[in-house]
Amino acid sequence: MARYTGPSCRLCRRENMELFLKGERCYTDKCAIKRRNYPPGQHGQGRSKVSNYGVQLREKQKVRRIYGILEKQFRGYFQEADRLRGVTGENLLSLLERRLDNVVYRLGFAASRTEARILVRHNHFTVNGRKANIGSIQLRPGDVVELKEKSRKISCINESLEAVVRRGIPQWLDLDKDSYKGTVKTLPVREDVTMPIQEQLIVELYSK
Ligand code: SF4
Repeated sequence: MARYTGPSCRLCRRENMELFLKGERCYTDKCAIKRRNYPPGQHGQGRSKVSNYGVQLREKQKVRRIYGILEKQFRGYFQEADRLRGVTGENLLSLLERRLDNVVYRLGFAASRTEARILVRHNHFTVNGRKANIGSIQLRPGDVVELKEKSRKISCINESLEAVVRRGIPQWLDLDKDSYKGTVKTLPVREDVTMPIQEQLIVELYSK
């Protein structure tokens, strides 16, 4: 499974906003956006003009980086979103939100999506009682994500569950902390994605 392995904070600086890729560190003064709020690289502080294409490209890269997805897979999500009924941009966000690794993060079992993906990959969760170790699994309303019994003592998971209050759990999910279970209540809607994303720009970019 291919994934980006370079420095995370560099990605936030490139997109000029906090993408919350590093868990707890993102909420502290150590956040690179707070300390060096300009694009990385030799010419980072010199660039100014951005074309229309540049704006669309940056928006696509931003969303790809938030969800930790490489280009080929992201394009696949777009094609599927385009095939589905409804507004393509909103379908795209819904497909991304319903990934198992994202749901694990949103429920608070992990401090970041990267951490969530690792936990999923290491077999700590089941979906509807069955083994689920692939982050891209699409969840549907009624699906139950459960932390395995043997994993309930892992300190970073319990710390994340305590800290999730700050982030909040979206309305389309329900968490039962005592039994380490999360349920998908409904499909996510546009309002459930709280990051500032202009999905229309991505649709325009891929529609060229
Ligand atoms: Fe981004 Fe988090 Fe690094 Fe801040 S600390 S730049 S939000 S990854």
